[in-house]
Amino acid sequence: MSEEQDVITGIEAPVYLKYNFTAGAAAARFLHQIKKGVLTGQRCPSCQQVYIPPRGSCAACGCPTEEEVEVADKATIQSFTIVTIPIPNNPIQPPYIIANLVADGANISFLHLISECVNEDVHIGQRVQALWKPEEEWDYAMDNIRYFRPIDEPDVPVEMIGKLPVTGWEGSADD
Ligand SMILES: [Zn+2]
Repeated sequence: MSEEQDVITGIEAPVYLKYNFTAGAAAARFLHQIKKGVLTGQRCPSCQQVYIPPRGSCAACGCPTEEEVEVADKATIQSFTIVTIPIPNNPIQPPYIIANLVADGANISFLHLISECVNEDVHIGQRVQALWKPEEEWDYAMDNIRYFRPIDEPDVPVEMIGKLPVTGWEGSADD
């Protein structure tokens, strides 16, 4: 063999990893509830913050969070980004909006999609509500909610986002 062949500097070697995720007790309870179409967080017994999805303990205090609290499927946009770069194998075509949302009755945000909106009109403090998939498609998954869409409610002042229950909050699961 000649040594003057093309120099090989690399090869394509797609590698895939399959993960089995063990949800844990707190997340498992959350997933059982969302399969029924209910968003359930947990309240810290010390600082009273409501976490959703719950992790089983308070990130601020370190206390176990055992009190289950049902939160609304209405939320406030805490921050957002307009995604313009396509992500390989992602069926959602850009541009689209991904946002940190604080559900009514919760203090901590989670990520979800915003749709049925003019992207340029989306803003912090804007009120949104979940659009759920048809009930027969519900599974143990956050994407039972297809996306959140703007609703006709006054904005929440930035300093109040995640600080107080907002009008319309339905109360706790224990009521
Ligand atoms: Zn706490």
